[in-house]
Amino acid sequence: LKFLEVSSERKKLYNEVVELKGNIRVFCRCRPLNKDEIGNGLGSVIEFDPSQDHDLQVNCSDSSKKLFKFDRVFKPEDNQEAVFAQTKPVVVSVLDGYNVCIFAYGQTGTGKTFTMEGTEGNRGVNYRTLEELFRIAEDRRGIMKYELSVSILEVYNEKIKDLLVDSSDEPPKKLEIKQAAEGTQEVPGLVEVRVSSTEEVWEILRSGSRARSVGSTSANELSSRSHCLLRVTVKGENLLDGHKTRSHLWMVDLAGSERVGRIDVEGERLKESQFINKSLSALGDVISSLASKTTHIPYRNSKLTHMLQSSLGGDCKTLMLVQVSPSAADLGETLCSLNFASRVRGIENGPARKQA
Ligand code: ADP
Repeated sequence: LKFLEVSSERKKLYNEVVELKGNIRVFCRCRPLNKDEIGNGLGSVIEFDPSQDHDLQVNCSDSSKKLFKFDRVFKPEDNQEAVFAQTKPVVVSVLDGYNVCIFAYGQTGTGKTFTMEGTEGNRGVNYRTLEELFRIAEDRRGIMKYELSVSILEVYNEKIKDLLVDSSDEPPKKLEIKQAAEGTQEVPGLVEVRVSSTEEVWEILRSGSRARSVGSTSANELSSRSHCLLRVTVKGENLLDGHKTRSHLWMVDLAGSERVGRIDVEGERLKESQFINKSLSALGDVISSLASKTTHIPYRNSKLTHMLQSSLGGDCKTLMLVQVSPSAADLGETLCSLNFASRVRGIENGPARKQA
């Protein structure tokens, strides 16, 4: 009887997840415990069900357990290929004329940059996506003609900075969001680099990462406090009927979502954290309004959501990758991130799983 109880619970959950076939997906990725965390012996507070990839359970400090459901859950042992395999169907739709946004959300140190950028030998979503876009474009040669270009920008303290502009340019150009004639949001003056091979892409991504650390004492420090956006512009032409499309794919490594205690910080750091909170909650509000099909979508509440307005909503595709740490030391932030993700998706979370 207990077994039946578990499987009907599963079936219900599965049905709910299958219903989420709309344009908004939320995935969750949990990184492995690192050496220090293994050393301190506190262990992991996150449990996974080996039989499926749609939920995870958090062991809270008051001994209660909380179940969170997602469109997909990646366990610590899941590699970059596994993550990209699920991300791919969303990103490649940019070649069919859809606007797409992918966000990596979470506390600093949970693997946002690892998932998006990856490392040279273990590349992340950004590079793999461009590689796949080139591959499909080649497959469609003779039927479709594509032109791909890349821009990399940063939003820090509600200011937009072009990371592909020559840093010797003084003073740096001020970038603003403008409404284009067709009603879309544009950033005039933003550098767009035409790319035609994966080698070129890797060089450009690297120069974007280098520019991100200019002027900061530590690259990691600044990158955790700014949003980094990689925009791929795809111009497509159907050679059979002449139909042309122009679409954007945004791949965004968001600023760290950790709450900063007001007592500990002041001045610049406090201002930064207020800007981060404001933009992350604005993003959460926009996506949850879209998910619940509210008529007023509050795009104008932050530079980030305003800039992405034409790529969020309607038939645009959105993927939120929520990154979490399994460590007991990060429990509070992990629960905040999981609650944020659930709110964004409008998914009800249940009590703990019944044990078989
Ligand atoms: P964030 O961008 O969220 O601050 P990072 O991407 O810098 O976090 O990741 C923090 C550390 O954890 C890095 O050393 C990174 O290589 C490692 N890491 C993150 N996710 C994974 C993973 N899934 N597998 C292995 N190492 C990971």
